Amino acid sequence: MSSNPRGSLFIVSAPSGTGKTTLVERLVQMLPNLRMSRSYTSRQARAGERDGVDYNFISRDAFEQRIHDSDFLEWADVFGNYYGTAASDVERMVVSGQDVVLVIDVQGARQVKARAMDHTAIFVMPPSFQALEQRLRGRSKDSEDQMQRRLDTARSEASSYVDYDYVVVNDQLEPTVVRLQEIIAAERSRTHRMKPLAQGIIQTFKPCR
Ligand code: 5GP
Repeated sequence: MSSNPRGSLFIVSAPSGTGKTTLVERLVQMLPNLRMSRSYTSRQARAGERDGVDYNFISRDAFEQRIHDSDFLEWADVFGNYYGTAASDVERMVVSGQDVVLVIDVQGARQVKARAMDHTAIFVMPPSFQALEQRLRGRSKDSEDQMQRRLDTARSEASSYVDYDYVVVNDQLEPTVVRLQEIIAAERSRTHRMKPLAQGIIQTFKPCR
């Protein structure tokens, strides 16, 4: 059961290749009441990716229409493709008391912050640039040009960690998942989030007449 009738919003950002998706998928498997938001994107599905599961894949035109209709809580152009989070998806989940995690880039995280919404932002770092490059090259079917673009973006994004509430270094999967769980547990216990439950308990302290 949630300690708060309204769910909390978490953001996880990390340079591409840090392993954030694997981390967050593991996290939502382990934590009841935490759901990952499914983003919209205009990029082509990669082999093995499914529409409505990994992303909602839509055309550039459809994406631009949604921008025009102010459908997105946040959106960004990442590596030449659009990515965005539907405001209505997040609202539906938090209203039903579920905590939601957005796995989004630093541009998107800035937009959520600018909206002054209550949220907790976590930045995941690789242990080093070399470790990140090794991982990216290991998994990638990108051209050398695309690879250099990803690496350049990673270089510029890494210093954004200062704008986040927490920083976690992903050196090993399981300990990093545990660290993320601990952050979420601590955040769920913050006084302002516990207030509805605490107030209910306080009511039981009132003397009977
Ligand atoms: P990929 O194409 O590798 O799945 O994702 C590329 C980048 O887009 C990643 O850094 C990922 O976090 C980011 N991304 C995915 N979904 C969203 C979204 O809804 N909003 C924003 N701002 N970035 C996203």
